[in-house]
Amino acid sequence: MEIVKAKDVVFEYIRRDDEGEVVGITTAVDHVNLGIEKGDFIAILGHNGSGKSTLAKHFNAILVPEEGSVIVDGIDTAESERIWDIRQNAGMVFQNPDNQIIGQVVEEDVGFGPENIGVPTEEIWERVEKSLKAVGMYEFRKNSPNRLSGGQKQRISIAGVLAMKPKCIILDEPTAMLDPKGRKEVLEAVHELNKKEGVTVILITHYMEEVIDADKVFVMDAGKVVMQGTPRQIFSLVDDLKSLRLDVPQVTLLAYELKKRGVNLPDGILTTDELVENLLSLKRN
Ligand code: ADP
Ligand code: MG
Repeated sequence: MEIVKAKDVVFEYIRRDDEGEVVGITTAVDHVNLGIEKGDFIAILGHNGSGKSTLAKHFNAILVPEEGSVIVDGIDTAESERIWDIRQNAGMVFQNPDNQIIGQVVEEDVGFGPENIGVPTEEIWERVEKSLKAVGMYEFRKNSPNRLSGGQKQRISIAGVLAMKPKCIILDEPTAMLDPKGRKEVLEAVHELNKKEGVTVILITHYMEEVIDADKVFVMDAGKVVMQGTPRQIFSLVDDLKSLRLDVPQVTLLAYELKKRGVNLPDGILTTDELVENLLSLKRN
């Protein structure tokens, strides 16, 4: 079953000068069609300005399409009276963890969402506990968020979304401001949610390494979805990705270069282990 469906979605920004005069129009999302299956881990790739954030904001009704429609768990996001149902079903995590944390104490911060929608106190605490445990931050529940690392703060933001019991979580470059350790922590937490809790994950990223474990990848360029497929299918198309100003994982690139020079390797190698296995089996033959 599709939890998110975009049908021919168009969204434009009107550009104005300092006097407020219209100077042009940017078509940020240009006739996008896509379907996301419930329980999947989806990645959306694309260079800066390709429309990823604008599209993502349609998935929890921060934006509503000018043309076409977005259906989230069976609800059309244009139905403004259902906006809170949609936002509860599809939670969003943004790039900068500092802008998302409002509580003075971790557990309080995570409880804000459910409190706002009137969840009974006892259940709020249950949800806070479970959400913090799910992202590996339970032991920090009494801490001040200010003292945490970027990766820890981002996991608190994710716990805050989880406490709303969403079916789907959308993360817009959640690791862009983190160091490698923080990136790894956040990625692991998100994969756990997907596997153990069955939460549908939509991850927007420009780190290729974060994409290789996704079930499906969508690549955007100039507001359009220009490629979609499994990570292996997508990363087999090294030249296409390069022309979209995107990289491939380093191992994939190495395998691609070796293959171009005559080494007999399959397309779309994603991990070091895979490359090593393939090279060793060549040697044995
Ligand atoms: P991405 O997330 O892939 O970097 P965005 O969705 O942020 O892309 O932007 C898509 C296009 O829309 C870009 O050309 C960007 O400059 C433009 N854009 C984004 N937000 C606004 C805005 N608030 N007002 C005007 N133009 C915008
Ligand atoms: Mg963006």
